[in-house]
Amino acid sequence: MSSDDEAEEYLFKIVIIGDSAVGKSNLLSRYARNEFNMHSKATIGVEFQTQSMEIEGKEVKAQIWDTAGQERFRAVTSAYYRGAVGALLVYDISRRTTFDSIGRWLDELTTHSDTTVARMLVGNKSDLDNIRSVSIEEGKNLAEEHGLFFMETSAKDSTNVRMAFEMVIKEIYNSVS
Ligand code: GDP
Ligand code: MG
Repeated sequence: MSSDDEAEEYLFKIVIIGDSAVGKSNLLSRYARNEFNMHSKATIGVEFQTQSMEIEGKEVKAQIWDTAGQERFRAVTSAYYRGAVGALLVYDISRRTTFDSIGRWLDELTTHSDTTVARMLVGNKSDLDNIRSVSIEEGKNLAEEHGLFFMETSAKDSTNVRMAFEMVIKEIYNSVS
């Protein structure tokens, strides 16, 4: 390997957005630390976590940002979005209102981004299928309408969590490499 290759570095900022209590913080803790908290408090949120993965033999780092609960007051600031090249737009499949908010989150993301952002729509809490209020079909349709990737996840039982983050990271990598 030449020193040029070794010097090559990838660091992507990814933001997680969506209404309060949809599971944003738990998706991140599941992905970064394999942890889940049934009683997580909005205030516990850390600013960001860095997670590495290897793509084509290269180390790719994702700096994943989580809100500290500001979304409750619709006060996510432009600093939060600044420099983001990826985004997870999260709703809770058992709470319809969180799905209805996605359009507003998309608008906010668009307003604050000055570059192309790899975007994934995430229907979280797929383990709550028995009290589901948004169908998989509706999720897919909304994603298609806006050109987003789509996945249902469960931070609780781990379903698709790694897959969702890694799809976004790979998409960003493909667009810059
Ligand atoms: P945030 O406000 O979007 O960051 O949401 P949190 O990660 O704090 O989660 C809010 C609540 O939903 C907490 O009680 C979590 O334990 C719960 N939760 C998060 N993800 C899941 C999931 O995939 N399934 C279930 N059943 N509960 C979840
Ligand atoms: Mg949170």
